[in-house]
Amino acid sequence: MAFDYAPAPESRAVVDLASSYGLFIGGEFVDGSGSSFKSISPATEEVLAEVAEATEADADKAVAAARRAYARTWSTMPGSERAKYLYRIARIIQERSRELAVLESLDNGKPIREARDVDVPLVAAYFFYYAGWADKLEYAAPSWQPDGSRGSAPAPLGVAAQVIPWNFPLLMLAWKVAPALACGNTVVLKPAETTALTALFFGEICQQADLPPGVVNIITGAGETGRALVAHPDVDKVAFTGSTEVGKEIARAVAGTKKSLTLELGGKAANIVFDDAPIDQAVEGVVNGIFFNQGHVCCAGSRLLVQESVFDDVMTRLKRRMKTLRVGDPLDKNTDVGAINSPQQLAKIQELTAVGEAEGAQRWSAPCDLPDRGYWFAPTVFTEVSQAHRIAREEIFGPVLSVLTFRTPAEAVEKANNTPFGLSAGVWTDKGSLILWMANQLRAGVVWANTFNQFDPTSPFGGYKESGYGREGGRHGLEAYLAH
Ligand code: NAD
Repeated sequence: MAFDYAPAPESRAVVDLASSYGLFIGGEFVDGSGSSFKSISPATEEVLAEVAEATEADADKAVAAARRAYARTWSTMPGSERAKYLYRIARIIQERSRELAVLESLDNGKPIREARDVDVPLVAAYFFYYAGWADKLEYAAPSWQPDGSRGSAPAPLGVAAQVIPWNFPLLMLAWKVAPALACGNTVVLKPAETTALTALFFGEICQQADLPPGVVNIITGAGETGRALVAHPDVDKVAFTGSTEVGKEIARAVAGTKKSLTLELGGKAANIVFDDAPIDQAVEGVVNGIFFNQGHVCCAGSRLLVQESVFDDVMTRLKRRMKTLRVGDPLDKNTDVGAINSPQQLAKIQELTAVGEAEGAQRWSAPCDLPDRGYWFAPTVFTEVSQAHRIAREEIFGPVLSVLTFRTPAEAVEKANNTPFGLSAGVWTDKGSLILWMANQLRAGVVWANTFNQFDPTSPFGGYKESGYGREGGRHGLEAYLAH
């Protein structure tokens, strides 16, 4: 019998929400020159705040502020001085972690447990990690030796335009802002339109850290704002995380310019369970792989490949485990699966799952009471999925798992690699040699073995094929922000 849990809601009183927010340009919050839009809590549909929609003129002001800060202070400041600011930011993130976690959960719909225990600690960790690199850039790559014998000294690129998605708003900010600043670049960041509030809070943190004005600028808005920022002629570097479709558009916009580009795009990862794997542990990893953050994860293990001989066993245990997932109020500390971030995303999940049924796959959803208001989707698994089904090929970006089977390692590799994406993969087996063989065969930027969705600032992350190019995290993450 599953336990009943008494509600354990986190207080939202720690968050001091303003009714409206401007843009963070040149170290100050300023009014935008355009209209505004509403940021909505996906769990309750409550309007949290009005946020300015930045125009081309606002993007221009932000880039100009970043350019001034680049020329006057940041690019010429010794790395050891830049590091002090980054350490300070990291410490303030830790000090204000409760506010940040509650705000992220409110605005995004993710469970407070994940915002508190995963997102915010990682955000601080990325700032600490890149703070440590700021005065050691000569050691970042072999060609940048401090004795000057090979290559020239590492130099920043200039002004970086950074556009990020809504699934890990603060974490994606950290992945972009921390390495850029460590290398001496200044930034203009555009958060996603449904999750701008923690980025704006980060603007306050920059003020609190006394970061020189203009080193970080934050402009809010939707696709048009992003488009204006990416197209700005005085931008030296574009870093984008988001859908493959928009990534392709950005690649076209940047082609033929002097701007350097990194793209972190979508995924359709295979999580591969062999018959010798510890099944309960693997099932836990499968659940974490697809239901963490409502499946709004680029590297989600959205295709489960199970060796045929253990298929029945895995499915029985998986469904039993899925029945215990608690779906509901993101601010409740017991919640495992929160709200879908937006009505548009919910409609996309509903459309693709309906196609899955229409194409003949068998759908099973965990029995759960979904709240009346807000955007929700029950954890769902599809069996009898073929590789041709859209639910096996397209990124659903929701709590939906498609299960396929295989007989041999070679068949598992062929099916896992049969995708236009190549971001991540998981392998569950008792045999170290099989793990190493699989890791060599899988065309994915990250391969996890007997675990899934593990992140660490020291470890590079990024894709192959339509999952993008360039790496974020680790020493490799510095390369995207240095001239070489
Ligand atoms: P999206 O591409 O719709 O939007 C991403 C960002 O781009 C938003 O800030 C949006 O306002 C902006 N944007 C939209 N059109 C633009 C344009 N023409 N020019 C410039 N900016 C524009 O993606 P999303 O729905 O917010 O995010 C989900 C996607 O992000 C998924 O495909 C997911 O896999 C991917 N993602 C990838 C990674 C990774 O590291 N590879 C990490 C997280 C999310």
